[in-house]
Amino acid sequence: MSASLAKCRVGFVWSPNLETFDFGTKHPIKVGRFLMVKEFLEETEFLAQPNVITIQPKLLSKSLLNRIHSQEYLKKVQRISETGEGEIDIDTPGFKGIYYNANITSGATLAGVEAVATGKVGHAVSPTGGFHHARFEGGGGFSIFNDVAASVFHLREKGFKRILIADFDVHHGNGTQTYFYSDPDVMHISFHEDPEWMYPHDGFIEDIGDGRGLGYNINMHFPMDSGDSVYTYAFDEIVPPLIESYRPEFVIFIPGFDAHYKDPLAHMTLTTEAIRYVTEQIHDAAHTWADGKLVVLAGGGYHRDSFRWGIGTVMSVVTGHEYQPPPQEPPFDDDEETWTIVRENVKRIKELVFPTLGIPGDW
Ligand SMILES: [Zn+2]
Ligand SMILES: [Zn+2]
Repeated sequence: MSASLAKCRVGFVWSPNLETFDFGTKHPIKVGRFLMVKEFLEETEFLAQPNVITIQPKLLSKSLLNRIHSQEYLKKVQRISETGEGEIDIDTPGFKGIYYNANITSGATLAGVEAVATGKVGHAVSPTGGFHHARFEGGGGFSIFNDVAASVFHLREKGFKRILIADFDVHHGNGTQTYFYSDPDVMHISFHEDPEWMYPHDGFIEDIGDGRGLGYNINMHFPMDSGDSVYTYAFDEIVPPLIESYRPEFVIFIPGFDAHYKDPLAHMTLTTEAIRYVTEQIHDAAHTWADGKLVVLAGGGYHRDSFRWGIGTVMSVVTGHEYQPPPQEPPFDDDEETWTIVRENVKRIKELVFPTLGIPGDW
């Protein structure tokens, strides 16, 4: 990273209102999750840096909510919110006030997007964002309102074209994919664990978009126990040529803390080294193509260490403030079988997508 990039102005979106949720004590999203992040970023002095400001979340506008979700679904969330009875989906229980919480945690993403779009900050980091499983007609996978889709619609109204969604959460961004599957004004790249066994069982390599959006939806999936080497290999082979050909005007990035080896819900074996590498590349790409316009949404991450080390790593890249997580030892190295599958997946993506997008080369 060059010295000039180290001075980027960064907005961290936070308010105690983000903690107004209660999925129950056995749920992977624990109360205190966002308070912990804020305290960690205070301890590590990120929030005291002169180039870091705190941004207050806002509620989503009615028109954006109506754009991203059906009336029927919004009424359902409202009903659950009033009584505290019922569920959004089997893995996403309801609670009293869930409508407000979903609204403010998604609105946090929009506050970050707005701050970047207007040039108030160069980058924004929203720890609550990345509800990529929510669809027009419903939620699930801990996602209630799709803040990623809301961000894209908002940016379009502001005149932004060619928006890149770089989603490295270990689960496929299935909800987000549905909004933009035929849309060449959004490039959606999702790196995730194999949907054959992994929630949400969607996001196969062959799903490359349709109509005018053909080639702009890219799904790369990994076998379980995939670690840093195969992951960064796949990144280098696929992502830079895609970004270079697309020349995005705005970048929305989900780093994938739940692909870390300590995560209890997934089976990948990344360390924060891979997370740092991917973040550096995406940050550089945002500066090269999008005038630095980058919003980072934390997405999943269900182990205390992976979530804190991950967000520290991301903040370190985007703010230039030094932070090194403790040494990490994943339980496996990438073996020959993993390499074979990953090489094959990369090859299939290149064969399917690159000629469609006119990316030159011998695939
Ligand atoms: Zn920067
Ligand atoms: Zn996830």
